[in-house]
Amino acid sequence: MLLHTSYVVPEEDRLVVRACKINGCDCSTEACPNAARKLECPKHCKRGCQNQNFRRNICVDLFVAAAPNTEMAG
Ligand SMILES: [Zn+2]
Ligand SMILES: [Zn+2]
Repeated sequence: MLLHTSYVVPEEDRLVVRACKINGCDCSTEACPNAARKLECPKHCKRGCQNQNFRRNICVDLFVAAAPNTEMAG
């Protein structure tokens, strides 16, 4: 019994994050396919990549997103 080849999708292929190829992208916004999917860029991503080891910033990001900037007045 053989499975159809299109049915067999290696999980590794779905989990792997590919290096960003977008010109001028710093991988810090949703313009980056990796950042948009909340995925960390691979270490061999581009030099200006800002999407490396971003896990430590997750809590900070949540606060920044929820906190209004009250220091703009003045
Ligand atoms: Zn990117
Ligand atoms: Zn990147």
